[in-house]
Amino acid sequence: MATIAATAKTHLLIGGAWVDASDGASYQNRNPATGATLAHVASASAQDVEAAARAARKAFDTGKWSTMAASRRAKIIYKIAQLLAERAPALALLEVRDNGKPIATAKGELSAIVDTFEFYAGAATKNYGDTLPSPMPGYFAYTVHEPVGVVGAIVPWNFPLLLASWKVAPALAAGCTIVLKPAPSTPLTALELGKIAIEAGLPEGVLNIITGSGRELGQAVVEHPEIDKIAFTGSTATGKMVAATAAQTLKRVTLELGGKSPSIVFDDADIDAAVAGALYGIYYNAGQTCEARSRLLVHEGIYDEFVQKFTERAGKLRIGDPEDAQTQIGAITMSEQFEKIAAYCKSGEEEGANRLFGGTRAQVGNGHSGGMFWDATAFEARPHHRIAREEIFGPVATFLKFTDEAQAIALANDSEYGLSASIWSQNLGRVNRVAKALRTGTVAVNTPYAVFPGIPFGGYKQSGYGRELGFDTVRLYSEVKSVITYMGEKPINPFGV
Ligand code: NDP
Repeated sequence: MATIAATAKTHLLIGGAWVDASDGASYQNRNPATGATLAHVASASAQDVEAAARAARKAFDTGKWSTMAASRRAKIIYKIAQLLAERAPALALLEVRDNGKPIATAKGELSAIVDTFEFYAGAATKNYGDTLPSPMPGYFAYTVHEPVGVVGAIVPWNFPLLLASWKVAPALAAGCTIVLKPAPSTPLTALELGKIAIEAGLPEGVLNIITGSGRELGQAVVEHPEIDKIAFTGSTATGKMVAATAAQTLKRVTLELGGKSPSIVFDDADIDAAVAGALYGIYYNAGQTCEARSRLLVHEGIYDEFVQKFTERAGKLRIGDPEDAQTQIGAITMSEQFEKIAAYCKSGEEEGANRLFGGTRAQVGNGHSGGMFWDATAFEARPHHRIAREEIFGPVATFLKFTDEAQAIALANDSEYGLSASIWSQNLGRVNRVAKALRTGTVAVNTPYAVFPGIPFGGYKQSGYGRELGFDTVRLYSEVKSVITYMGEKPINPFGV
């Protein structure tokens, strides 16, 4: 069982060995729902990043993984999937204690994580190149996809193991080696992934994991000259810094960043289905979701009915003990995030938005008085209000009214972000017109579910670049090499001398 005893001490994974931070430092990692100490986590320094990057480089350069037969690589990735599936219940519980999310949510994530490793196990044997039309008589040309090298994978705290899997699985499929940096507040399931990877037969040094609490750690990964690519998920502000720093060594970069995604509800929608889907779209994972549909754009003809039904059903959501199978909204993962949500709710009131419900700390008893819980919240806002424009990353919905399709599209696209959108309508023509007009990486029609292994996920505009989860994602962990062979009988002598 992948359980970590209270106050357990964790280690870094470097070159196949579990080691202390080089200076022996550690920090306390807490359960956000109770405030209890969960583990003493090794706190890596730039020196440990150096050791991890060197181990990953060495593992890459020896070719043990990068030139291993793709079918063998696939079997090891598939074995990782199997071990994850076997340990899913314990891993889900560990994620709940580390992150504060409800157990039902964590179980769903574990299932998606297994699917992700299975998908990329299959992709490992299909990273095909092309044979190309001959550029001149007597020539034969083809491309091969080779692994990009060492990948620095930087993961946030909202979906700790899920977002690690989105990077680790395709990187392994392409033949890369990895330095994985989980977020400081949620490192525990990544460490379990490290144990599973070793058990599955991943050669030493292919997956290295560094945990730590300082901002400089991620920076050291992005700066490191031996790292060839950065795969980052997090805020747009940090993503910009990552891109700027990575440019110094011309690293390849994939960025999956913030969002302010809309649920667009037309007057021809199935209103009850739209209400149920829109509730999930914003309150799932307590709104700590990059693709949270935090803006609710509703047609004026159904606006009052929609708001009334939404309010009524939001009141039935169960907030509380994340380990209770009935809970739907768990704890806010970090105190900084909790303060940020509170500040946005205050700013909404100050700017004149109309608070419909929530906006306060949720009172949760039974041993959770030390936990950070926020009530499901909704405001009616104007498009210029900060709560209608900026990523809050909490259970806060913002309602805006529209009069026609053109205004709905204009409002939806009036954002610096472009990650995701849901359209609610029974009119096929409208659905496809609007889907085409939206400047977002994903459009979910009549469903809040927007993320599946095998379907590319990523952003337009300042929501980032590159796509995760798709088959082509393996290409983003590959370099294309063109091989041009002259096969003619007559030797080539361009200068004729
Ligand atoms: P960040 O984007 O700052 O952090 C995400 C990850 O990047 C963490 O592992 C972090 O580690 C690391 N990191 C931070 N600074 C750097 C850097 N200069 N170079 C490389 N890596 C770095 O998000 P926060 O966790 O601070 O959350 C702040 C806000 O970001 C949230 O309120 C939310 O709005 C948004 N966010 C959005 C996410 C999304 O999926 N769209 C995910 C998480 C947050 P460390 O913590 O050690 O600095």
